[in-house]
Amino acid sequence: MDEDIRKDMIKTYRLEFGKSPEVVTSAPGRINLIGEHTDYNEGFVLPIAIDRRTYTAAGIRGGKLFIAFSREISKKTSFEIEAGKFERSNFWVNYIKGACSLLSEVKPIEGMNFAIGSTVPRGSGLSSSAAFVVSIIDAVTHLYDIKIKDIEVPILAQRIENEFVGVQSGIMDPFVAKFAREHNALLIDTRSLQYEHVPIPEDCSILVCVTGVKRALATTEYNRRREQCQQAVSALSEKLNKKINSLRDVTVGELKSVENEMDRTLYMRAFHVVTENERVVKTVEALKKDDRNLVGKLMLESHLSLRMSYDVSSPELDAFVEISEQLDGVYGARMTGGGFGGSAICFVDANYENELANEIARKYKDRGYDNGVVFIARTGGGSHIERS
Ligand code: ADP
Ligand code: MG
Repeated sequence: MDEDIRKDMIKTYRLEFGKSPEVVTSAPGRINLIGEHTDYNEGFVLPIAIDRRTYTAAGIRGGKLFIAFSREISKKTSFEIEAGKFERSNFWVNYIKGACSLLSEVKPIEGMNFAIGSTVPRGSGLSSSAAFVVSIIDAVTHLYDIKIKDIEVPILAQRIENEFVGVQSGIMDPFVAKFAREHNALLIDTRSLQYEHVPIPEDCSILVCVTGVKRALATTEYNRRREQCQQAVSALSEKLNKKINSLRDVTVGELKSVENEMDRTLYMRAFHVVTENERVVKTVEALKKDDRNLVGKLMLESHLSLRMSYDVSSPELDAFVEISEQLDGVYGARMTGGGFGGSAICFVDANYENELANEIARKYKDRGYDNGVVFIARTGGGSHIERS
């Protein structure tokens, strides 16, 4: 499928701009195996890039004008950039405009053409936004020979989403879009930005269960959780009488010791984050020992914590997890991404992946949910230059 879209983007670029692109880049979408809502708390995350990618075909046009076409949005739009000044455009264009603006501070750049196409479902918790912005950064840096370190790419991508698009996303999504490796999960310490590739057993597969639902309150609630974590940090600094920068600095024991002195909601939010960090570390150990049942158990614990303590699940996500957990061949299941809709994942025996995908989709539909999709996700590699 992806070979087709790569060729399609070259063709689309020619049609839209009347010549061949000078470069084609791509970056993957992702699922998060475990470590949810920890990346803005300086915690651990364990995402896996999937074999669905965003492709950017690009070339230099010169002058001041930048022109972008997105196959998914079905729109062509133009913009100019000005040093030190940024005006928001249409939502999706801000990712490109933000990338060009920030990179032009490193080295002056002239107008460009972009044609973008993707197989990452948008707004489904699979991080189409990071795949999109990382593929754009790679295209611009390649064309203008802008020398930035690899580690700067996810940092820039996060800044673009935060400052130019106005979405308070964390570092995990662009980080895995840049550094993922096929057949591996990526353990990221979001405090030090150190990372480690952790192999996934060959005969295990991941099913992605897309709920087909994205609740409008997802963004508000996401921002509220971030605030509550900050408030928990302040409360804990005072109650524990020690300097705490983030929930990463707190142990489960310390947290429990002040349970009765803390606001209940803040305690629950902190409890999820602190225990989730522990679960990520245990999942990495379990993967290294190929203890897939333990990986599955930790995934379910993570889901329950997100549902009960962090309160970010939804009936659709719970339905997918409940259905999956009852089937033989499923090691574990949980919601993935921010929550309130989006997608769930199942870690399963690869020998039964097709049957399980069909069965889960059928049972989800039987519960009255019509827009669900279940697909088998192969692992993908990080962003790269497809053609130059
Ligand atoms: P997710 O990252 O979970 O898919 P987001 O809401 O963070 O959801 O990002 C989706 C947004 O990213 C879209 O609304 C759009 O603005 C932008 N985007 C992603 N992929 C594309 C694409 N192929 N073309 C244009 N915009 C895209
Ligand atoms: Mg996103």
